[in-house]
Amino acid sequence: MRCHCGYDFAKQMLKGSRAFQSFAVVNNRDYQTFLKLETKVLRARGSDAKLGAIARSSEYVGCLHVCPKCSRLLLLQPHAGASDGSLVRYTRED
Ligand SMILES: [Zn+2]
Repeated sequence: MRCHCGYDFAKQMLKGSRAFQSFAVVNNRDYQTFLKLETKVLRARGSDAKLGAIARSSEYVGCLHVCPKCSRLLLLQPHAGASDGSLVRYTRED
């Protein structure tokens, strides 16, 4: 995932550098479902059940990165997988 200014978030993550802010994002419409699935993670017994529960709840979590070079916001929407169509970029106006 790369910003329009050229900053490469994936490359920085591979280097182990977290020189940018990143937030988990859940759609308000799906928030109650997400919370119910998270409670199933806590109640799951055994590592396979726990991993399965985590996989189901993580489908509801997207990611918002703040570019440290140009302040653009890059939103990777939940439920979208890794395709480029799930990525939305916002430019700061002030
Ligand atoms: Zn940028």
